[in-house]
Amino acid sequence: MLTTRPRGTADILPGQVEKWRYIENVAAAVSREYGYREIRTPVFEHTELFVRGVGEDTDIVEKEMYTFRDRGDRSITLRPEGTAPVVRAYLENKLHTGPQPVKLYYIGPMFRYDRPQAGRYRQFHQFGVEVFGSHHPALDAEVMAMAMDFYGRLGLNDLELHVNSVGCPNCRPVVRQKLQEYFRPKLGELCVNCRNRYERNPLRILDCKSERCAGLAREAPTIADCLCPECEKHFHEVRQYLQDLGISHVVDTRLVRGLDYYTHTAFEIMAPGIGAQSSVGGGGRYNGLIEACGGPPIPGIGFALGIERIILALENRNKAIVIETGPTVFVVIAGDVPAREGFALLGKLRAAGIAADMDYTGRSLKAQMKYAGKLGVRFTIILGGEELQRGCVVLRDMKTASQREIGVSEVVRELSGLLEQCKSG
Ligand code: AMP
Repeated sequence: MLTTRPRGTADILPGQVEKWRYIENVAAAVSREYGYREIRTPVFEHTELFVRGVGEDTDIVEKEMYTFRDRGDRSITLRPEGTAPVVRAYLENKLHTGPQPVKLYYIGPMFRYDRPQAGRYRQFHQFGVEVFGSHHPALDAEVMAMAMDFYGRLGLNDLELHVNSVGCPNCRPVVRQKLQEYFRPKLGELCVNCRNRYERNPLRILDCKSERCAGLAREAPTIADCLCPECEKHFHEVRQYLQDLGISHVVDTRLVRGLDYYTHTAFEIMAPGIGAQSSVGGGGRYNGLIEACGGPPIPGIGFALGIERIILALENRNKAIVIETGPTVFVVIAGDVPAREGFALLGKLRAAGIAADMDYTGRSLKAQMKYAGKLGVRFTIILGGEELQRGCVVLRDMKTASQREIGVSEVVRELSGLLEQCKSG
């Protein structure tokens, strides 16, 4: 147990972590360009926030939350998603009293007690955005465009954007009734969960993961058949904005978000080829959510994209991410030279902004050179007793395997110049 991590979690090791940082940097850059500012909320919240904000009837709240009592006997939950916490922060910090819309993004870990498999973890990470305070259909298009732009910059240009409208509280009762009529004769064949959903929320039957229920739902009436004129207009405009931006998408009338406060646009982004968990991101409008969380009736829209699945998709497509290496300079110390000499030079190099390292395990000169090669440094500085007495060191270019002597006092200036040349070359 001591040397085994909990199921469904991962260590992100050096070599891999650089990819993460790169993806996070692209997320931050895209967010900035689209006018979104970063928000960081706690990793845990009061359980009630998710029960309200995600919905009692959802898989997340029913069976996937990491909930516990703290020492003050409060019910606390590790956040399973980012929207409810951001809504809470928006209300608690009175961001709704300032100019609207408020456009926020976040990147961070989420926790769900789900069955782990490829692409599904118990701790995973999302890049998400939330916009509060506007009904404008261009915003629906903007968040989808932003997600696709983000993927595109990572080299993922073949993803599929699926879009639907899930209606509003005006058209829901009509869908509900039509779905109940459709499923009534099939009730006995539905799974236990769906039999419960039939009364409470028949829309969620369309979302059931069981193959049998999916089969039974194939001919079911869709929300598209029941949209009220206002929802239809909104959806039409959203699609027009997407077309204007040249963003290809498919209308998927099976795409649902079975909760009352999800309204209008729902979307999902799929990456073919990464296995059963092919959804790399999703989002939609939630004009009823802020009110459900105790705030005024302010509309909202957002997305959440899974970072682990982006990495899977990149690996599946053999897309390399350029990884910054470790140190660029290694200080090699010959046996008779005191370590202090090397350590002092190391300090000077680092103070000049040069990534540098030395040996701390007592390796021989030869082993130090070999280790420097393994680290992939571009240059080594070799401190030999005889050269030092003459005020010199050896500078070796590891790429060309050429070496020459330079004065000790020249080292920092010489290396700074050479590294500058490497960058521009
Ligand atoms: P959701 O918050 O369920 O709408 O999920 C949004 C995105 O987060 C999904 O498209 C996935 O990319 C990712 N995601 C959700 N659940 C998990 C999980 N258990 N493990 C890894 N990624 C996940």
